Amino acid sequence: MELNNNIYQIDGLDVLEICSKYNTPLYVYETKKIEEQYKRLLNAFPNTKVKINYACKALSNINILKFISKLGAGLDTVSIQEVELGLKAGFSPFDIIYTPNSVSLDEIVRAVEFSVRINIDNISILEQFGHIYGDKVPVCIRINPHILAGGNSKISTGHIDSKFGISIHQMRHVERVIQANNMHIEGLHMHTGSDILDVDVFIRGANILLDLAMDFPELEYIDFGSGFKVPYKSGDISTDVESLGVKLSDRFNNFCSEYGKDLCLMFEPGKFLVSEAGYFFAKVNVIKQTTATVFAGLDSGMNHFIRPMFYDAYHHIVNVSKPNNNPRIYTVVGYICETDTFGWDRKIEEISEGDILCFQNAGAYCFSMSSNYNSRLKPAEVLIHQGKDYLIREREKLEDLLKNQKEIEF
Ligand SMILES: *Cc1c(COP(=O)(O)O)cnc(C)c1O
Repeated sequence: MELNNNIYQIDGLDVLEICSKYNTPLYVYETKKIEEQYKRLLNAFPNTKVKINYACKALSNINILKFISKLGAGLDTVSIQEVELGLKAGFSPFDIIYTPNSVSLDEIVRAVEFSVRINIDNISILEQFGHIYGDKVPVCIRINPHILAGGNSKISTGHIDSKFGISIHQMRHVERVIQANNMHIEGLHMHTGSDILDVDVFIRGANILLDLAMDFPELEYIDFGSGFKVPYKSGDISTDVESLGVKLSDRFNNFCSEYGKDLCLMFEPGKFLVSEAGYFFAKVNVIKQTTATVFAGLDSGMNHFIRPMFYDAYHHIVNVSKPNNNPRIYTVVGYICETDTFGWDRKIEEISEGDILCFQNAGAYCFSMSSNYNSRLKPAEVLIHQGKDYLIREREKLEDLLKNQKEIEF
């Protein structure tokens, strides 16, 4: 979003016009930024065979999936429904990796029937999978390297208490299961958390995985997961993917020559691709001055945008109606009947009732985590592509809330 002649614009379009055309609350995404991020990550690894699989739980509107498929990316999925959405969006099964946790064997069997790549994260399922498929269906194994990474305990997945992956200390057992079933291991995977800032944390995990890879002679790819941190406010540092590219390519290429085969290096970013491409717009219904605080109350709540309450996430807030007003201090809250605060003590251009606020970094884990709590309707989604706006999801109606409910007689 840029300020041109006192008007906030996304890809040349006036955001206030978009908001009056589609109403608030509203999610808006721009393809331009997604493409820019995709290319930035790809270009950080110029001399390596690299594949980027978009982790679609971040934002799963079918149009976003179709656009990312057109860019040439693959898809990282965590449920059979995401697999089906990915296939519908045009990804070939070969380009979809299915990385579930705690799902039933039945669901994994369905994924095999769709011919997508299977990533297994526990020994019990690995063993059952081996009994059924033996050497017929190759699999990838999710390793937990036990490194502490990630910005928040809810999004750290690599530590000792984590439910994710098969512990690096259980490899002897894994080997036993593989040998007994003559299994074909085509990939190794790790994903140690989100919001990892430090390139050296990636490299540490990568070293563990690459050392282990020497024991698996039939590999096609190594998947280093994701967790790239993006900037949420000015001055924020984010993962230096260019520096990661230099360090990891070097290490990976050396590994490949030692291994005797050029493997594919994979990543599965969610946030990195879509976070900054998204904006959430909401209108100020009420300014409420209490003894201690000035609240700005919006026509939305944590049902639409839960990250601040769930992860203590900071989302930068701009008053797009009054770009030139002097800043004042507000606590920005929602309309849900429990505490749902979007931001505490924020400096925002002085707000009048009716003004529209914009939340930045609203592409990842925002709409996809929204709910109907308080029987509120989910907002519309708009995509801006090549300077034009497209409605890609209608605002919900009351009928949508009742659609699957069955009324009985009393
Ligand atoms: C959530 C998830 C990702 C994406 O993480 P980001 O921090 O959004 O990049 C990647 N891989 C797996 C297995 C995940 O569960």
